[in-house]
Amino acid sequence: MSAIGLYARKTEGFEARLAHTIQVLQAAASEHLGRIVQSTSLGAEDMVLTDLIARHHLPIAIATLETGMLHAQTSALVPRIEERYGLKVEVYKPVAESVVHFVKAHGDKAMYESIDLRKACCGMRKLEPLARMLAGRGAWVTGLRREQSNNRGEVAFTETDDNGRAKINPLADWSWNDVWHYIATNDVPYNPLHDEFMPSIGCAPCTRAIAVGEDFRAGRWWWEDERAKECGLHVQEEQAAVSMIGAQA
Ligand code: SF4
Repeated sequence: MSAIGLYARKTEGFEARLAHTIQVLQAAASEHLGRIVQSTSLGAEDMVLTDLIARHHLPIAIATLETGMLHAQTSALVPRIEERYGLKVEVYKPVAESVVHFVKAHGDKAMYESIDLRKACCGMRKLEPLARMLAGRGAWVTGLRREQSNNRGEVAFTETDDNGRAKINPLADWSWNDVWHYIATNDVPYNPLHDEFMPSIGCAPCTRAIAVGEDFRAGRWWWEDERAKECGLHVQEEQAAVSMIGAQA
């Protein structure tokens, strides 16, 4: 059964949550005019946000990280977004020399060897390009939801990141059913891997399908302890990791 068939449900309060999300996006776009970007992972939540940004003609740039390790189905969403909405997607890639140096030193399966090497890989392929994406910007929009995992239980609609930027999480109170209800009713393009029991999709070597009853993010870095399961994009050590990678490059 497809992800829409499995998850799309209209639940009580959906219209109010949607209206509030649009308000949050409009207020952020106006407050940070010309300096706000949606950092899209191309996952289901982010496709909802891109659809809302396009549908309401909001002046919010769309940008993504191409780590060089994504599934082909994930990368294919970039041209799909551009064709569907007529929007340009900014694509940020890791520094080629850093990738060559890292793979030469540690191999292409380093992420499985230790948490430090996994975090170094995320730092090089995600955090450093993210820092470039956010440079000169005053706000970023993410698809974080409180329900995604225990680590994300406190997600606020608007917060301030370690670098003083506004971090806008317009779907903070949405459920997984809400996300898929919106996708189904608005015919939003989405990653076909979601139809293969992958609710949270990252790089190919670090994503697997989940089984019935498993946590939403159980398919990400599944070989690690639960507490380590963030790539650094949404944790406090972001700046430290960027500095570390910058020093290595
Ligand atoms: S998710 Fe995996 S492959 Fe992607 S940057 Fe992090 S460790 Fe590297």
